Amino acid sequence: MDLVVRNARLASAPEAPPVDIGIADGKIVAIQPGLHVEAPSCDAEGRLTCAGLVETHIHLEKSRIADRCAPETGRLPMAMERVSAVKHTFTVEDAYRRAAQTLEGCIKFGATRMRPHVELDGGVEMRTFDAVAALKRDYAWAIDIELCVFPQEGLTNNPRADELLVEALKRGARAIGAAPNFDPDHAGQIRRVFDLAREFDVDIDMHLDSGNSPDDMDIHLVCELTEKYKLGGRVAIGHGCKYSTMKVDGFHKLASRIADAGVAVTSLPATDLFMQGRDQTDNVRRGVVDVNALVEHGVNCSISTNNVLNPFTPLGDCSLIRMANLQANVCQIGHPKRLRECFAMLTERSARLMNLKDYGIAVGNPADIVVIDAMTPEQAVAENAAPLVVFKRGVRTVTRARAELHRP
Ligand SMILES: [Zn+2]
Repeated sequence: MDLVVRNARLASAPEAPPVDIGIADGKIVAIQPGLHVEAPSCDAEGRLTCAGLVETHIHLEKSRIADRCAPETGRLPMAMERVSAVKHTFTVEDAYRRAAQTLEGCIKFGATRMRPHVELDGGVEMRTFDAVAALKRDYAWAIDIELCVFPQEGLTNNPRADELLVEALKRGARAIGAAPNFDPDHAGQIRRVFDLAREFDVDIDMHLDSGNSPDDMDIHLVCELTEKYKLGGRVAIGHGCKYSTMKVDGFHKLASRIADAGVAVTSLPATDLFMQGRDQTDNVRRGVVDVNALVEHGVNCSISTNNVLNPFTPLGDCSLIRMANLQANVCQIGHPKRLRECFAMLTERSARLMNLKDYGIAVGNPADIVVIDAMTPEQAVAENAAPLVVFKRGVRTVTRARAELHRP
């Protein structure tokens, strides 16, 4: 064996005694207490250990532009317009440099798999795609990246965006997204995205149903098309802010409908808290969908980062565990079982959303292993615990020292 991670408290069974994880050729080859082999080792000291965090929804190439965009001037953030105004300045090198900084932040906070959402339109042509595709190659030592491409600025009214999506799918994008809120024909965009997904046999992951009221929700059409084309398990949506504004009975009915269709939901609490409720000056609406409640109705859900340091979210450190902590705080999640579920929405549930077949601490899977400074998943979420050690395919990629007190 090449390495043993000893005394690992598995996130899947934190009550059980810690185990040793044996690694050879980048894969997990043994999981048992007291593994008797001569090999270099890393002592997890009984801490929480999982198979790496999974970021299902992040915008790398438009991160870190807050300082380039016009400042916010009133209650309406005008984020789309402020980003759109500077997109023509994105070169491949510039997008790569900013995206790399964000990606490195994600890696340092334990992400080992990622689905970046890359926007394509005439303003950026394929420069965003080229930058993120280069990152995928250059950071393969630390993280597996699957590109999701989408039209941020309309599709039915933007033929160039359609051509670029087709080009990106031909060049290996593994998922297609959407942003129907910015298309004069929501249904037209959604139908076209389903057509492209079927043509190229890729998963769907749409921005959907941001907004301040439950009116005109697009989820019904998404569920209908998912069922019609038998794509349950291959369709996800992000945001769903409108669902947080529904009366509880209607929300429960909708949750069951989404579960039956097999559509997954990603909460993006940082952006939604920042962008929603801008029509209000007091008692400001939170706009964050309660993904724990959706999970309890059978929906698969994830929690992700979305935007970092741009007009949509001018805050952020790329920590997924912090996103789960934020989600729990905002949606008033405190029961240990429900906090544990929030942790699953950064790990197993996110992996399921992305249809990853080789995820988890199990013999035969890649040795992607993260040791977190906590004893249980619920403690990690509650205390915003830090990842201390990260391995990608059995090679250490990150070490973070614990803070120490220097007593007098
Ligand atoms: Zn997004």
